[in-house]
Amino acid sequence: MGQGARKLIDQLRMRQDNVKSLGQHFLNNEDVLDKTITLADISGQDHVIEIGPGPGVLTERLLETDCELTAIEIDQGICDFLKHTFPNLNLISGDALREKWPKVNKLVANIPYQISSPLIDITTKMQSIEYVVILVQEEFAERLVVEWEGDKGSLGMCSMLDWESKIEMRVGPHCFTPSPKVNSCLVSMKRLEPPKNSKLTKILIRQAFEQRRKKIRNTLSKAPKRISRVKNWHNKAYRDAFQSIDYPLLDCRPEELEIEDWLDLAGLLEDARAAMG
Ligand code: SAM
Repeated sequence: MGQGARKLIDQLRMRQDNVKSLGQHFLNNEDVLDKTITLADISGQDHVIEIGPGPGVLTERLLETDCELTAIEIDQGICDFLKHTFPNLNLISGDALREKWPKVNKLVANIPYQISSPLIDITTKMQSIEYVVILVQEEFAERLVVEWEGDKGSLGMCSMLDWESKIEMRVGPHCFTPSPKVNSCLVSMKRLEPPKNSKLTKILIRQAFEQRRKKIRNTLSKAPKRISRVKNWHNKAYRDAFQSIDYPLLDCRPEELEIEDWLDLAGLLEDARAAMG
């Protein structure tokens, strides 16, 4: 049996103060930790990455499983504490957005909320990661899983192409030390096989949601900024293909389209481009 969350938090707080700008609100609730570990469903074959271990409340639980664990923490004082408390932990001291991640298959973490979006981008690009359990700010979780119609945006619509995401548990501010002003959610994300034209679809979604009040006919008539990053596409090919298609939903605003509609639109454009040679 380990030391438990409250003891680890107290030990770290005796050594140093919390750094608010690094999102240092530490999880003090054993039920949320139990749920995280149950959801993570860890086996001896797993290589797990934890971003922002802080005092090690989740780290301790992960080390009790038989997975291989790597943690990345930016705060040098916390890294010294972790090395002292968990001498066998494979710890990378640095910024998770800049450090090279090892080839892991799961991300399990109570992440620093201020880097949620770029962290999801890195996780999505890292194809070896097939499953994620993360604690994030409630608003971010709702946009990620598109809980309500009003949550529709490029984050949720694009992530639907790569992940099946689910809010597993709501977590109140009292579960953290010190308490944040916001609510949190435990979210699971299971990797999906990306559908055909996934990359083009994401580029269309991102461009359309940049001006979400406009009809997509207007925002998408200009070639998207990163179109040449999609295989076989460039500005002129896009403009020609766009002019040639007839798609009734072009007169809608982006939040009126479902993910299947975006895939249909990308498919039409792809067919038009291929037909033009
Ligand atoms: N996982 C711990 C827990 O559940 O109590 C701590 C979570 S706290 C919300 C976020 C942690 O991430 C802090 O320890 C903070 O120092 C660290 N952190 C902040 N930005 C980071 C970054 N860019 N890369 C790695 N760690 C970061």
